[in-house]
Amino acid sequence: MPVGGYVAGIDLGGTKIYAALADLEGRVINELKVPTPAREGYEAVIRRLAAAVGQLQEEAGLPGPPLALGVGAPGPLDPAAGVVYQAPNLGWRDVPLKADLERLLGVPVYLDNDANLAALGEHRYGAGRGAAHMVYITVSTGVGGGLVLGGRLYRGATGGAGEVGHLVVDPRGPRCGCGSYGCLEALASGTAMAREARRLVAAGRGRAILEAAGGDPASITSEAVARAAAAGDEEARAIIAAAGRALGIGMAGILNLLNPAVVVLGGGAMRAGTLFWEAMEEELARRALEASRRAARIVPAALGERSGVLGALALAAGGARGEPPYSEP
Ligand SMILES: [Zn+2]
Repeated sequence: MPVGGYVAGIDLGGTKIYAALADLEGRVINELKVPTPAREGYEAVIRRLAAAVGQLQEEAGLPGPPLALGVGAPGPLDPAAGVVYQAPNLGWRDVPLKADLERLLGVPVYLDNDANLAALGEHRYGAGRGAAHMVYITVSTGVGGGLVLGGRLYRGATGGAGEVGHLVVDPRGPRCGCGSYGCLEALASGTAMAREARRLVAAGRGRAILEAAGGDPASITSEAVARAAAAGDEEARAIIAAAGRALGIGMAGILNLLNPAVVVLGGGAMRAGTLFWEAMEEELARRALEASRRAARIVPAALGERSGVLGALALAAGGARGEPPYSEP
């Protein structure tokens, strides 16, 4: 048994559950990944979460339960109330996740959204370590983010802060899932890149992209766009550059508003390569105030798919110590 006890952390996704145990310093004891039984419904998922913690505890030979469990879940959610309002890929609406897990496990449960905990993970153990003020942005199928200000996760009044994906970067841009137009998520995400590519193909262009997708317009993904771009296709390159520029515009606003020391960029779209990165930096150079731009180190995330679960462990350890790692609302 680690001195001082241990904590559990879970990163709950629509397709997989990533769970781990660690001591209070964040040293991971063991970890596991299991599929999320999303189609079997809410009860099945929370029982799977509890079973994952039990399995890790047993495998590690730990005699007692963890001091606390931290859970990162898809949002929007209210961390204080412990309720997930809406998680479309899990089919959840207004579920009392914190209370239900506390009932199943008999330990205190701390909840936050997955992007916030990825931010916390990168801040405590990854690319943002040591920075008092850090912004985390993840670009994958969507665009998410989290803010660490003054060394603490900044949640805002009701847990809604850090929604980087819904910064408007083009008021006349495409409709976003949130109902607004031209949000960063509607322009820079993998989904947005795939949508642009399909639009080209539907207009009789984008042949190299269509080929990279195996000839089926319905199979066009941002990965197909990236493959076509890597092979030198100009239309694919233009799609990626446009996404990078949108991110740069959004990030310039973030730098001007918050003056962070570090911006950590995570998510699959970062693998779109130097083209994406250079387009982003070009817009930053054009739009961010010089002092804030020079102060910010922009770095790739260091923890990969483990950032969320490590953040969940940090949240649980803070809770167990009575020093929550977030700013109180
Ligand atoms: Zn939006």
